[in-house]
Amino acid sequence: MTASSGPESPANTPGPSSAAPPIRVGLGYDLHRLEPLAPEGPGRPLILGGIRLDHDRGPVAHSDGDALLHAITDAILGACALPDIGEFFPDDADANENRDSADFLIAAIGAAREAGYVPSNLDATVVLERPKLKPHKGAIRENLGRLLGLPLDRVNVKGKTHERVDAVGEGRAVEVHAAVLMVRL
Ligand code: MG
Repeated sequence: MTASSGPESPANTPGPSSAAPPIRVGLGYDLHRLEPLAPEGPGRPLILGGIRLDHDRGPVAHSDGDALLHAITDAILGACALPDIGEFFPDDADANENRDSADFLIAAIGAAREAGYVPSNLDATVVLERPKLKPHKGAIRENLGRLLGLPLDRVNVKGKTHERVDAVGEGRAVEVHAAVLMVRL
């Protein structure tokens, strides 16, 4: 079956304007397994939004494993219908080993700008059983605002636990959901 077969959808009929829309929304999601830090395990230091959090576990990852930056990167790419983070930055490429995930976000912002869009606001949810995100939220938001070129009142990060159930709730993973609104240049 090809994409062109099947019933005709009214969504495919020409609308009043085919111009680039003024706004586009993107959703990003990421999850990393959390393991004991070296030398006990394969976990890397826990970094979220470019900020290091003290913890005895950290993400298993090819890059620095910053799940928050990965989710935001994918939201920006997704809003512009660009290839996802794994296509842009394969996790088996030597160049991406130990890579600072800010590089991924900066590259995504550059690709989005080339497509004609810049970030307008971010809302993200970090699901992490421990450590508590609250003491780090201010630093994380400031760093995200700097990277995104946005004032703090357009950068939001919420922290939640997973109520001690499932892998996230048992402290074995961190999960992030992000929504980014992009506006036309
Ligand atoms: Mg990731």
